[in-house]
Amino acid sequence: MKENNLELINGNSYLFEEDLTVGVYINKSNQSAVLIDSGANKDVAKRIDQALKQNGCQLAVIILTHGHQAQLGGVSYFKQKYKHIKVYATSWTAQFMEKRALENWLSGHIPCVTKEYEHNESVDMITDIIPYRDRQLVIEQASFSIVTLPGHFPGMIGIITPDQVFYCGDAVFGDKTLMKQKLLYYTDVKGARASLRKIAQSKRYAYIVSHGGKCKDIASLVQQHQQLIDETSQFILGLIREQPMTLESIVQKVMNEYQLQNKSAHFALANSIVRSYLTELSDSSKVRATVNDGILQYYARTSAALL
Ligand SMILES: [Zn+2]
Repeated sequence: MKENNLELINGNSYLFEEDLTVGVYINKSNQSAVLIDSGANKDVAKRIDQALKQNGCQLAVIILTHGHQAQLGGVSYFKQKYKHIKVYATSWTAQFMEKRALENWLSGHIPCVTKEYEHNESVDMITDIIPYRDRQLVIEQASFSIVTLPGHFPGMIGIITPDQVFYCGDAVFGDKTLMKQKLLYYTDVKGARASLRKIAQSKRYAYIVSHGGKCKDIASLVQQHQQLIDETSQFILGLIREQPMTLESIVQKVMNEYQLQNKSAHFALANSIVRSYLTELSDSSKVRATVNDGILQYYARTSAALL
């Protein structure tokens, strides 16, 4: 059911959905609203603001799931308009928000490829730091569960409302995203696997994902993610088993395999993802790295033992 651009999920938990989803919890005792993420930019934030007004709500709190622009881009609009609002985030998210250039380090800070950010726009936006552990967060007598969901982005959290609606951020992507892209963005593959298990084991009324909205079958979606992660890991390990490879050669093969375009942004994305998989393969003793003649190469552990 849609009420002026807000889709009711359960009880007081709603969804504002355009390309990306923003969670809305309305405390019916005083019509105050809690947003889960803020929209990607000022224009989206304005439309969320209008939807809240049409429903007779007053924004009180924003909880950010993680430090990507798509989630935090609307905060400055809301903070300028409503000075009193509280913005909750983990310390990781606060750091990425205040120093946007930090995101470049996740892809290895590649010269001439790194993104440029408007500096200082987002300083002092976060009012309350959420410790990075599973816990309850009480906001105006409503108790929200904070769930740590590592993997996609440092310090990411999910939020479960009192209505048992689980807003999962980008820990899970929707069906349409999976149709378009099989190489999923993770900065910590081991963490991503743990988060997927956590989501699959939690029995909640509904699950909401940033890219995809309300999820109909979370078990099946989690399974698809696990399969895609396994496939990417096996693909990279298979390459290295054939012959020792440099990081750039692996990135090239991955870009070809997943049909990424020859754009610097896609290179940075693939570079970041490949390094996350290599970290997991290294942690599980499947690959190692050696420098030969000034070139760093990755070896499969079995072939390395033969050298
Ligand atoms: Zn994200």
